[in-house]
Amino acid sequence: MLQVPCPCCGPRDENEFAYIGAAGHAQPTDPDALSDTEWTDHLYLRDNPRGPHIERWLHRFGCRRSFVIQRDTLTHAIEPVPVAGSLGPDQSDSAGASDERRGAEGAIK
Ligand SMILES: [Zn+2]
Repeated sequence: MLQVPCPCCGPRDENEFAYIGAAGHAQPTDPDALSDTEWTDHLYLRDNPRGPHIERWLHRFGCRRSFVIQRDTLTHAIEPVPVAGSLGPDQSDSAGASDERRGAEGAIK
């Protein structure tokens, strides 16, 4: 069973969590300008990446907090994604890695 690392509770079995979706799925800047087809695409069509994927999860049967992780869709290896501004100056290298991940996946908002 997959172990998901909750930032509050630590590693827990995946059945305690709900997968919310890909992190950084941007909202349309002008929703009134979208056609029905574009709305359908926005609401229902998602990438199905092979490899590292930035995802949002909810600790449904725990602390009820949502958080972002990077999960490799091939190996299920999970790495936490630091929240911007939460790292101290002595952790600047890992913050740079986070920026690289975010750049590869697009803007995370
Ligand atoms: Zn938790």
